[in-house]
Amino acid sequence: MIAGIDLGTTNSLIGVYESGFPTLLADAEGKRLIPSVVYFPEKGIPVVGREGLRMQAFHPECTFSSVKRLIGRRFGEEGTQNLGGTVGSPVTLPIHGQNLTPEEVSSEILKKLKSIAEERLGAAVDRAVITVPAYFNDAQRAATRKAGELAGFTVERILSEPTAAALSYGLDRLQENAKVAVYDLGGGTFDLSILRLDNGVFEVLSTHGDTRLGGDDLDEAIAGLILREAGMGSLNIERSIRLKQAARAAKETLSTQETTVVLLPFLEGEKSVEIPLTREQVEKVCAPIVARTRALCLRALEDAGLKSEQLDQVILVGGSTRMPLVQKLVAEVFDKEPNLSQHPDEAVALGAVLQGAILEGNLRNVALLDVTPLSLGIETFGGLMNVIIPRNTTIPAKAGEMFTNAVAGQSGMKIKVLQGERELAMDNWMLGSFEIPFPPSQKGAARVGVQFSIDADGILHVLARDTATGIEKIVEIKSAVEVSDEAVEAMLAGSLEHAFEDMDARIFTEARLKAEEMLPAVESALEQLGSELSEPEVLEIKKQSSEVISALASKETNRLKQALTALDHSTQTLATKLIERAMG
Ligand code: ADP
Ligand code: MG
Repeated sequence: MIAGIDLGTTNSLIGVYESGFPTLLADAEGKRLIPSVVYFPEKGIPVVGREGLRMQAFHPECTFSSVKRLIGRRFGEEGTQNLGGTVGSPVTLPIHGQNLTPEEVSSEILKKLKSIAEERLGAAVDRAVITVPAYFNDAQRAATRKAGELAGFTVERILSEPTAAALSYGLDRLQENAKVAVYDLGGGTFDLSILRLDNGVFEVLSTHGDTRLGGDDLDEAIAGLILREAGMGSLNIERSIRLKQAARAAKETLSTQETTVVLLPFLEGEKSVEIPLTREQVEKVCAPIVARTRALCLRALEDAGLKSEQLDQVILVGGSTRMPLVQKLVAEVFDKEPNLSQHPDEAVALGAVLQGAILEGNLRNVALLDVTPLSLGIETFGGLMNVIIPRNTTIPAKAGEMFTNAVAGQSGMKIKVLQGERELAMDNWMLGSFEIPFPPSQKGAARVGVQFSIDADGILHVLARDTATGIEKIVEIKSAVEVSDEAVEAMLAGSLEHAFEDMDARIFTEARLKAEEMLPAVESALEQLGSELSEPEVLEIKKQSSEVISALASKETNRLKQALTALDHSTQTLATKLIERAMG
């Protein structure tokens, strides 16, 4: 089982694909969003999640939050300014006389998610897809992978967040070349990505963002508003954390309600805070912050060379997009109503779960597998590939052909089902084979219809029927559509590399089949009608026949073709006499 994980700056989630559904897993309290906060006590195991968040108010110096900003970073790079380490060396975080790397701290969050999943499922969960922002560089991606491994996961894929979100909104089913804007406003970061759907895969056309813009800034602005309303000055660090947590709760409530009351008993000594807030008041202080996303959206559009009307969809990601204020701005900037069909703070995790299911083969990547990745056919006379359903045919698909016996007296036909792009059957993959019997007959008298059909689930049914007796057989082949990308690539590369010799082999085989047919026919015609020809004519035919035989032995395609043409030429009078006799 492959879990999907959104390792967020503010919140993290884990889910799995269970009995046909992507499911996000909740902890013992029934919560799916796990705060990405880790509290390290002096002794004992780290405390992660809501519990960690509560401890932050008491022990801010022993609690890490937003470590995602530091993962894969070196001192001196963005986000590390107030840490003060040796410029150029990897970031470490001091705690209880130890230095932890951000990936070690992140691995604590991942361990927590792992234990939630294992508890819920009652089974080991040790493979995962983990998401990262589209702009993460190699070092940041590698460090995220490392965090996963430290937590005991085999990291099957590092997936970009906007791609995951688009998957969860089902946008992989949009038409080819569709363009999508992903507006992601989370707790601490803003990202705007423009994606294009290419062959079922999302390509990132452009991305812009601000790593210092998100819900935290709104909380701060609202905290300031509360302080002003309460007539209070600045607070110490513990109190200001309590205040910010209250501001955040008020903000979230006001996304669905018009008013709320902020209650902070004994915030400062004997002084308690009890302040009513309206959505309007809060929107007023938040509007300038949210407005900063506008220019970034426009720049991303410009980078992608697109106008807003060329976008097929705008999707919302990140908890902060639950705010009506944000939704209004998005609709206005893109001149399009955003798609609200998914929970914005769960979309990335859900997409990671879907990607895991696709990797495991539990879920057909609809857009990717909508076509046959390679040609399907059967082996015919002389070991050649006879294509019945060509590569890149959209499925479901159905096609058939009639085949006959190559040899007189043959009492059945072996159907070898092949997949691949090579001319010779032996160079393609054999998916299966079976025999269809028919009564012994003259060469070319049997009629066997072969039909290939691929259903919507990608299963190939091969039906063969002898038209004389009506005897038929059907086999089902499951592996016809689900072929790994690598295998498809190897096959295509092979067919290109060997194109010339393959073609030569096919032409030679076809010429050989023709020679094998012509030689006995010429011989028997000579026996019957040779006496009606002149001696030089008979000699010429015999000479050309033996040249065909030596050309066959030489395996030289051109020589064989020329010899066949010459034999054809030399037997013209003979052929005319044969026809006259048949008609007379
Ligand atoms: P991240 O991607 O940064 O890990 P999320 O997508 O979970 O984070 O977003 C977290 C942010 O979303 C927080 O600032 C939180 O206050 C905010 N948020 C969550 N729910 C709401 C809501 N109903 N209204 C406004 N903001 C919300
Ligand atoms: Mg996020």
